[in-house]
Amino acid sequence: MSAAHPTDRRSWIERTAERLRLIPRLTPAPAEHHAAWEEPLRRFPPTEQWQDWHENDAGAWPRRQERRYHLIPTTCFNCESACGLLAYVDKDSGRVQRFEGNPLHPASRGRTCAKGPATINQITDPDRILYPLRRSGPRGSNQWERVSWDEVLDDLAAKIRKALQEKRHNEVVYHVGRPGHEGYMDRVLQSWGVDGHNSHTNVCSGAARFGYNIWQGYDRPSPDFANADFILLLSAHLESGHYFNPHAQRIMEGKMAGAEVAVFDPRLSNTASVADHWLPTRPGSEAAVLLAMANVILQEGHYDRHFLENWVNWREYMQTRHPGAPVTFESFIERLRGDYAEYTPEFAAAEAEIDPQQIVTVAQRIRRAGHRFAAHNWRGAASGNRGGWQVARCLHFLTVLVGAVGQPGGTQPSAWSKFKPDMPQKPPGQTFWNELHYPREYPLTHYEMSPILPYLLKEGRGRMDVYFTRVFNPVWTYPDGFSWIEVLRDEALIGNHVALTPTWNETAIYADYVLPMGMASERHDINSYETHAGTWIAFRQPVQRRFLEAQGKPVEFTYEANPGEVWEEDEFWIELSWRIDPDGSLGIKPHFTSPYREGEKMTIDEYYRWIFEHTAGLPEAAAKEGLDALAYMQRYGAFAVTQDRFALHTAPLDEQTVAASRVDEATGTVSKDGAPVGIMVDGKACTGFPTPSRRQELLSPTMMDWGWPEAAIPGYLHSHVHREELGPDENVFVMVPTFRLPNLIHSRSGNAKWLVEISHRNPVWLHTSDAQRLGFATGDLVKVRTDIGFFIDRVWVTESIKPGVVACSHHIGRWMPEGGPDGNRWAINRVRLTEQGDGKWRMNTVTGVQPFESADADSLRIFWRDGGVHQNITHAPHPDPISGMHCWHQRVWLEHLQAGESYGDIEVDTKRSFEVYREWLAQTRPQQRADRLRRPLWLTRPLRPDTSAFYEPEDKA
Ligand code: SF4
Repeated sequence: MSAAHPTDRRSWIERTAERLRLIPRLTPAPAEHHAAWEEPLRRFPPTEQWQDWHENDAGAWPRRQERRYHLIPTTCFNCESACGLLAYVDKDSGRVQRFEGNPLHPASRGRTCAKGPATINQITDPDRILYPLRRSGPRGSNQWERVSWDEVLDDLAAKIRKALQEKRHNEVVYHVGRPGHEGYMDRVLQSWGVDGHNSHTNVCSGAARFGYNIWQGYDRPSPDFANADFILLLSAHLESGHYFNPHAQRIMEGKMAGAEVAVFDPRLSNTASVADHWLPTRPGSEAAVLLAMANVILQEGHYDRHFLENWVNWREYMQTRHPGAPVTFESFIERLRGDYAEYTPEFAAAEAEIDPQQIVTVAQRIRRAGHRFAAHNWRGAASGNRGGWQVARCLHFLTVLVGAVGQPGGTQPSAWSKFKPDMPQKPPGQTFWNELHYPREYPLTHYEMSPILPYLLKEGRGRMDVYFTRVFNPVWTYPDGFSWIEVLRDEALIGNHVALTPTWNETAIYADYVLPMGMASERHDINSYETHAGTWIAFRQPVQRRFLEAQGKPVEFTYEANPGEVWEEDEFWIELSWRIDPDGSLGIKPHFTSPYREGEKMTIDEYYRWIFEHTAGLPEAAAKEGLDALAYMQRYGAFAVTQDRFALHTAPLDEQTVAASRVDEATGTVSKDGAPVGIMVDGKACTGFPTPSRRQELLSPTMMDWGWPEAAIPGYLHSHVHREELGPDENVFVMVPTFRLPNLIHSRSGNAKWLVEISHRNPVWLHTSDAQRLGFATGDLVKVRTDIGFFIDRVWVTESIKPGVVACSHHIGRWMPEGGPDGNRWAINRVRLTEQGDGKWRMNTVTGVQPFESADADSLRIFWRDGGVHQNITHAPHPDPISGMHCWHQRVWLEHLQAGESYGDIEVDTKRSFEVYREWLAQTRPQQRADRLRRPLWLTRPLRPDTSAFYEPEDKA
C-alpha cells in the first residue's frame, strides 16, 4: 500500500472515505508521468534494484527461502493494449518465474488484467511448437518433419525472389491477425515492393474506423476518460474493450471523480452492470438512438456554436443539401434541426425498444458535460450491423455538437495520442495494387477485404504463391471457416502457406511450413496506442536473451536464447530479406543494411537503437541516467514521449506554408497550390483536420462522389438484422456473437491453463420470457440455425439479455481434428470433420477436453470436459457494401434437436455461403470513373502504395 504523497492535504478520514467510494475523489488524478516517476514505488520493487531483486519464495512457505531475480521489462501480447510486464528471471536457473506489471509503463501503470500474468502459462505450455516444421504429406494430413531455420529461409527466399523477378508481386502476401508492433512489416513489405499486406481489421474494427475517418480523417477515438464528466460507451469497455486495462483504469478514475457512465448493450455486461445508465438497445438501432440524442441537443439549442461554426464544413452541407438557402450559420442550424427532426426520442425508443425518457436524460447529460464528453465505439454495434459504420459516425456527431473534439475530458482523434516511430532506410510506396485485398467493388473499404478472400480466390480473381499467416487463424476466427479450409488446401490457389505462430491452431494445420514464433517475453516489438491524452512507446523484448547478455553471454539470434528454436519475426524478416536479394539487384538489400556499419547486415539491436535515438526526448532522458537510448529502453521498457495532447487542430500552420497560401475570405479555407491546407479561425491560420476540407465533415463529399449520396451525412441505415428483415417466425432471433470474455482472447488464450480453467464454455444466452415461450431451460440443448448451417449448444436462461436477442461468446469452441497435432489441449475438443459432398461439411465432437500427461503436473488435473462450441464457422459472410466490414450479427432460428443430434454438432453448406457472398456483393456500387481512380486519394490505407497505383491501368479501365 502506498503512503500518502507529501503534497497530499487530505485528512485520513477523507482518504478512507474516498477509498471506500463514499465520496468522490477530492484531488485530481496524478498526471501520467507522476504515476510513473514521482509516486513512491511501494507496490513494486524499486527500479534501482531490478537487476538484483531478492525476495522470499512464496511457494516454499512455511520455509524461508530467498530467491534472486533479474527483473526485465517487456510488454504483454495477449491483446492489443500491450500493457507493461516485468519478467522475474530467476538468477540461478535463468528461467522466467512469473510476470507482473511494469509500473513505468505510461498506459498500464503497473496493472494488468488476468491475461498478463498468464503469459507464464504460455511460455511453459507443454504443447507449444519448439522447432520449424515442414509438411511431409498432403496438406492437412498432420505429417511433419523438423527442418532448420537455414533450410526454411533458403527455400522461401528462392520462391519470393522468383515471384518478384517474374513480376508476380501480388502473389506474395503477409496476412496478420494481431500486429503488435509499429510499422515493422510495412517497412519489410514495401522494401520487397509488394502490395502484400492483409489484416484481420475488417472482422474487427473496420466499420467504426470508417465512421470516424469519414468525419475527421482519423479512424479511432481516444477519449480522455479520466477527466470526463460524462462517458458514453457502445461496448463492454470496462471488461474487454479496446485498450481494455488502460481504458478501464481511466474510466474508473473518471467515475470516482464524479463522471456518469452510460452504456448501450443488449446484454447486461459487467460494464453495463456498473453504468449509471444502461440502454439495452435492440441490435442495429443504435444510430437511431444517437441521432435522437443529437436532435434533443439541437432542439434545446445547447450545441457549441464556436466549434460548429469554425470547424465543421457546414457551408458544403448547405450548398449540397439546401441549394438556394442562405449560406449563413443561422440558416444552417435551422436546416440541420429540420433534417434531424424525424429522429424523435419516441421514434428511436420504438426502434431500440427502450424508454424514450432514457434517451432524453442521456442527451441532457451529454450537453451538460459539453467539452467533457468522452465516448467510444470500437467494435460493438459498429461491427455487428450492415451500416454499422454509421453508428460510430452518429456517436461522433454528438462529440462534434457539444464541441468535445480534442478537449480535456473530451474525445481526441487517435493519432494525437499515438506515437509513430521513425524508421531507418524507409522504402518508397509500392507501385502494385492487389485486387484480392482491395477489389473494385469496395473502393471505400477502410481495410483489406479479408472476410471475402476465400470467395475471391474461388472466383479466380487471383492466387497466392507465398502466403504468410501470422498470429492469424481465420478457419476458427472468421465466418464460414470451412470455405477457408477449402481454399487453404488447394495448392492451385495457394502455392505455399507459411504459418508463423507460437501454437498450433485450426489454420496452421493446413500449412506447408509451421514456424514457431515467440510469446511476449521472447521477441522484439515496439508498441504505442491511444490509451490517453499523451503519447508513449513501450519495448517488447526477449527477456532470456537480455538476461544472457547481462551475464556477458552474447546472443546472435533470439532463437538461441528462447525455448527450443523458437524465433521472432523481426530477425526472421531481416534474414529472409537479405537472402531474397543477396546481390542487391532487386533493391531490397539497402533497406536491411546497418545504419551504423556500411554495407553490413542490420542487426535487430541496431534497428531499435536507431528508432530510440530518433525518439523525441528519449536520448536526453537516457543520458540523465547515464545510458544510451537503447539501453534505457532495455532497462525500463517504456517511455512517455508527450503529455496532455489536446486541441492539436488549432496548431498554427508554419510560416512558410502560410506565405505560399491564399485564404478564401468567404470560407476561411487556406489553400496552397489549389488544395486546402488549413483554415482561419479567430484570425489564426490553423492546421485543422486531415480531411479534404480540413474541417470535420458533417457532409461527406467523398460519399457523394463515390456513389452513396443518401449516406452523405450521419444517418440511420437499416441493419440486416432489423425487425423487418427477420420475418414473422416466432423462432427467429438476432444473434450477438461478438462479446469477449475478460480473461480470454480470440484463439490466443487456449494455451494458458489458468485462463481456460476460469472459462471454457459458451452457452447461448436466452431471455427468460423467450425460454418459456419456446420451452427451453438452462442446460437444455438448442439447435441454432444460421443462413448456411447450424450449431448445437446449451442454453443459459437469463434476464441479462434483451428479449428477441440471443448472445454467445466467440472465444470458446476450439478444436483439432482427429489425427491432428496436440496443441492447446487445455481448451480443445477433438472433432471429426466429414465432407458430405457438394460443399456440405459436418463437424462432430469425438471427445471434449481431456486430462493429459505432460511435464506440467496440472495437465492431469484438468477437471472440465466441455470445451464449448465453435459458432463462427456457421456464420454466413456479410461484407458491408460500404465499409467492407464483416457484419457479425446473424439472423438465427432456435430449434429443439432431432433424434441423433448431439452437443457440439455443426453443419455448414459452403455452396450456400458462396451464394450469400454474391448476394451481399450485389449490394455494392462499383465505380467506373473517367479518371480511373480506384479509391479516394485522401483515404488512408495500411501500406499505402505510390499514388500512381491508385489509378487503374488504361487497359483495365
Ligand atoms: S489488457 Fe490484459 S491482455 Fe491486454 S495487454 Fe493488458 S494485461 Fe495483456
